[in-house]
Amino acid sequence: MPDVDVAVIGAGAAGLSVAAISAGLGLKVALFERGEMGGDCLNYGCVPSKALLAAAHAAAEARRAHRFGVRVGEPQIDWAGVRAHVAGAIAAIAPNDSAERFRGMGVDVVRATARFVARDTIEAGGRRYRFRRAVVAAGSAAIVPPIPGLQEVPFLTNETLFSLPEKPGHLVIIGGGPIGLEMAQAHARLGCRVSVVEALSIAAREDAECVAGLRPALLADGVALHEGARVARVEPDVQGVTLVLEDGGRITGTHLLLAVGRAPRLDALGLEAGGVAFGPRGVATTLALRSVSNRRVWAAGDIADPVGLGPRAFTHVCSQHAGIIARSMLFRLPARVSYDALPRVTYTDPEIAQIGPTEAELRAAGRTALTILRWPLAENDRLVAEGRAEGLVKLMVDAKGRLLGASLVGPGVGNMAGMFALMIGRRLSALAGAVLPYPTAQEAGKRAASEFYTPKLLSAPVKRIVGLLKYLP
Ligand SMILES: Cc1cc2nc3c(=O)[nH]c(=O)nc-3n(C[C@H](O)[C@H](O)[C@H](O)COP(=O)(O)OP(=O)(O)OC[C@H]3O[C@@H](n4cnc5c(N)ncnc54)[C@H](O)[C@@H]3O)c2cc1C
Repeated sequence: MPDVDVAVIGAGAAGLSVAAISAGLGLKVALFERGEMGGDCLNYGCVPSKALLAAAHAAAEARRAHRFGVRVGEPQIDWAGVRAHVAGAIAAIAPNDSAERFRGMGVDVVRATARFVARDTIEAGGRRYRFRRAVVAAGSAAIVPPIPGLQEVPFLTNETLFSLPEKPGHLVIIGGGPIGLEMAQAHARLGCRVSVVEALSIAAREDAECVAGLRPALLADGVALHEGARVARVEPDVQGVTLVLEDGGRITGTHLLLAVGRAPRLDALGLEAGGVAFGPRGVATTLALRSVSNRRVWAAGDIADPVGLGPRAFTHVCSQHAGIIARSMLFRLPARVSYDALPRVTYTDPEIAQIGPTEAELRAAGRTALTILRWPLAENDRLVAEGRAEGLVKLMVDAKGRLLGASLVGPGVGNMAGMFALMIGRRLSALAGAVLPYPTAQEAGKRAASEFYTPKLLSAPVKRIVGLLKYLP
């Protein structure tokens, strides 16, 4: 007889969601975690990064308060206070993810490394657990690139950055993706010198018009951007560390942060013994997130590599995966993961939000008959009133006016992402006709949607009809 109905490896966003649903449905669940409960999002990812950004944005608001006739002078940054805020945010959320809470739900929480020893058995903490179903939710870790000299210098990743006792004098960041840029702006606004070294261009996956809205803001914050720059080697320096670039340039900083991407945590899982197929991008699954090689096993979160789609490293994808696994593994219903309406946000200021594919991705996929609708945030009354009227709403629609993708840049535009996620695949008439509260930034989304209908509404035939209708009593 199996010892458990569901064995879950990893108590991050994905594993916790699967464990909670399974236990809630009355199944016997074992949850294995070798590190901190809550995984990356709570301890080393979303929560500390957004807490640090909140402190940074507060400093930036103080600096620009003079625009409103409010003078406060240059803010003093108390690094211990900033760290306490970050730690406090983690501590406030931690009870939701705690072993105590999950034990209260009836989950057997095992604080140990788990590994497959057979297709139906996991070993952890010196004990073997036979399972009916298992879910691999072991997450991902920062990639350490094979740069010569890197192993001889101290470097930071997201697992060590937020517990740094001292404020970095000059933080050098390799990688200009979302994590690199968020951390660059956060530290620059908190008074650190910051340099970003990026082999391609910053935010390379994002819409170029949106990136054009972010770049000047980062430069204005004092972030030195080295785009198209490749690191040839890294050397120790009396100040800390020196990057030697392929073009011969040298950048010396006090601290080095690696932010070049994520790799699945495949080590120590014993996937071969479990008959669980995997590749460099993660555990190979069907679109129902079921292992392609062991039908007892599913994968969720950053480590899942669904065929044809690839991994996506977002906390909201973890919840999406948990829902799909509930359907497919627990209810035995058809379920397929899709990222057609997936939102993602880079929480810089201005934010970049992407919902569904970008224009470039749609064109690369052969969708050439696109209508592009734009609405500048300079026209938005709320943002004008707040002195922040900058940015863009850009919508990609098909010939029938159905939304295929949305790209946004501007202050707080991430708050509009949910609205557009609901609209993907639907005709924009619903949004164009919606009554939205005035004044809000969301109105810019409605104005962009209306752009699809305005030319038709103001066409010569419609004007002729209205001209005739005026004679009716
Ligand atoms: C700096 C940063 C900022 C981010 N910001 C955002 C954001 O704003 N919004 C967003 O949506 N996403 C964000 N992310 C991404 C988000 O954090 C991840 O997508 C999410 O945490 C992944 O959850 P997971 O459950 O797949 O993996 P994890 O959270 O990594 O959890 C996996 C757990 O498995 C454990 N484990 C691994 N192997 C074993 C084993 N053999 N035995 C037992 N336990 C094991 C690990 O210790 C870990 O705790 C950010 C990430 C980073 C790094």
